[in-house]
Amino acid sequence: KVRVRFAPSPTGALHIGGVRTALFNYLFAKKHGGDFILRIEDTDQNRFVEGAEQYIIDSLNWCGIPYDEGIGKDGGYGPYRQSERKSLYKKYANELVENGKAYYAFDSPESLDSHRKNHEEKGKTFIYNWHNRLKLDNSLSLMPEEVKTRLDNGDDYVIRFLTPPDEKLQLMDKIRGAIQIDTNVLDDKVLFKSDGMPTYHLANIVDDHLMEISHVIRGEEWLPSMALHQQLYDAFGWDAPEFAHLPLIMKPVGKGKLSKRDGEKLGFPVFPLSWNESKGYKEEGYFPEAVINFLALLGWNPGTEQELFSLDELVNAFSLERVNKSGARFDPEKTKWYNQHYLQETSDKELAQLFLPTVKEYATNKDGLEYVTKVVSLIKERAVFVSDFWELSDYFFIAPAEYNEKAAKKQWKEDTEEIMTDLISVLKPIKDFSSENSETIVKAWIGEKELSFGKVMPPLRLFLVGDMKGPHIFDIMAMIGKEESISRIETALN
Ligand code: GLU
Repeated sequence: KVRVRFAPSPTGALHIGGVRTALFNYLFAKKHGGDFILRIEDTDQNRFVEGAEQYIIDSLNWCGIPYDEGIGKDGGYGPYRQSERKSLYKKYANELVENGKAYYAFDSPESLDSHRKNHEEKGKTFIYNWHNRLKLDNSLSLMPEEVKTRLDNGDDYVIRFLTPPDEKLQLMDKIRGAIQIDTNVLDDKVLFKSDGMPTYHLANIVDDHLMEISHVIRGEEWLPSMALHQQLYDAFGWDAPEFAHLPLIMKPVGKGKLSKRDGEKLGFPVFPLSWNESKGYKEEGYFPEAVINFLALLGWNPGTEQELFSLDELVNAFSLERVNKSGARFDPEKTKWYNQHYLQETSDKELAQLFLPTVKEYATNKDGLEYVTKVVSLIKERAVFVSDFWELSDYFFIAPAEYNEKAAKKQWKEDTEEIMTDLISVLKPIKDFSSENSETIVKAWIGEKELSFGKVMPPLRLFLVGDMKGPHIFDIMAMIGKEESISRIETALN
C-alpha cells in the first residue's frame, strides 16, 4: 500500500516549496489510493517555534490537501510528533552500536573546532570519517572499559554512524535515476545525542520504517542525505522506501533558490498563509485552486500543453516519472494568471459574497447581494483578485467624487453642455429604463438630431463613471437607475 508522508519541522511558516512537497505527496497518495501522512519533526528543540505546527495544518487545509493520518487523526502509527516518540529512538541507536554499525564519540565542540581549523590551515577540509576517526576521542580509539567508565560518568557523547570505507553505494532515485556514491567521501553523521534526542537522520528513518512509509518524496536539499539513509536501512536490515527528490524552486530572476527575502523584496507571497507580517497567498486574495494549480506545474509537467487542472485532474495526471530533474523557476506573474482564471470560474454570487463587506464599508446605500452580484457579472472579466473589484466598480455604488482630468479636457467641448442638457430631457420620460430600451431611445434621438456618437457617449461615460472605464454605458445606467443617472449628469454640468 502506498503510504507517503510530509514531515516538516515546526520552525516557522511553511514556505511555498514545502507546500509543493506536500502537494506532490498528496497527489501521489491519491493517485495510488494510498495515505498521506503528516509527521511533525520537532526533535530540534532549539528551533521549535510556537504556533508553527498549527500553521502547517491550517495551510494544508486551506490548500485543500488535508492529510489522512497524523496529529489528531490517528491511523494506528502514532504518535505523529517526534518529540512524543523520544523514548523510542534510543533503542535503535543502541542496536546499531551493539551491531558495530555505530559508535560513541566524546569529542567536545571545542576540540572538533580546533581539528577543523588545523585542517583549514593546511588547505584541507576536516571530515569525521575513516581517515580521521581513530585519531579522535571515540569508542573506536578507546578501550572498552574506558568507554564504559565515561558513559557511567555521564560524560557528553554522541552516537555516530560508522561509514564503511571503500564502498560504492548504488542508490536509486525515482526522479534522478541511478546515483553512485563512494563512501570515502561521507562523514560519520551523528545519529543520537546525550541529551536523549535523536538527530533528524535517525528519527526520520526509524519513523519512516515504523510508519510503513512506501515512498519518500521530498525536496532536493535532502538528496545528500540519501546515502546515509540507505545505509541506515541496510544496517537495520530493513527494506528502504523508494526515494524521489523534487527539483529546487528557483528565484524568478537570476541564480539560486527562491527565498523568503525574494518575496519580501519583490512583493509576492512565498507562504500560503501570512506569517509574522510576511505575505500569504490567502490574505493576498488568491484562491487555493490557483495556488495548487500553479505549484503542481513547478517541477512537474503533464507531457501535454494543458496548464489548467483541477485537483482531481491533477491526481489523475500526476506521476513521479514526469517530475523534472532541473530546477523550476518561480514566476509570480503566473500565479496571478491562474488566479484570474479561477476568479472567472467562480460564480458571480460567490464572488459577490466575498465583495459585499468592501461595498458595505465604502458605500452608504444598502445595496444587497443581488445588486452586487449583477455588478460582479459586469466587471469581473478585468479582475485578478476580488480586491480589484472596488476600483473597477465603485461608480455602481457611489457617484464620482472627481473626474479624470485628462479625459475631462478632451471631452468637454463647446456644445457639450447643450447636448447633455438635452439628453436629460430625453432620459426623464423613459419609463422602462432597461439597458436595451434606453439604448434604443437615446440612439434614436442621436439620429434625429444628427449628432455624432462621439459627442454624446464619451462625456456621458465621464459624467456617470468619472473616468473612461467600465462596461457598456447603458448597462451602467440601467444598474444605477434613472434618477441617479440624471443626477450625475446634472452634477457634472454644474
Ligand atoms: N524534517 C525534514 C524537513 O523539515 C524532513 C525531510 C524529509 O522529508 O525527509 O524538511
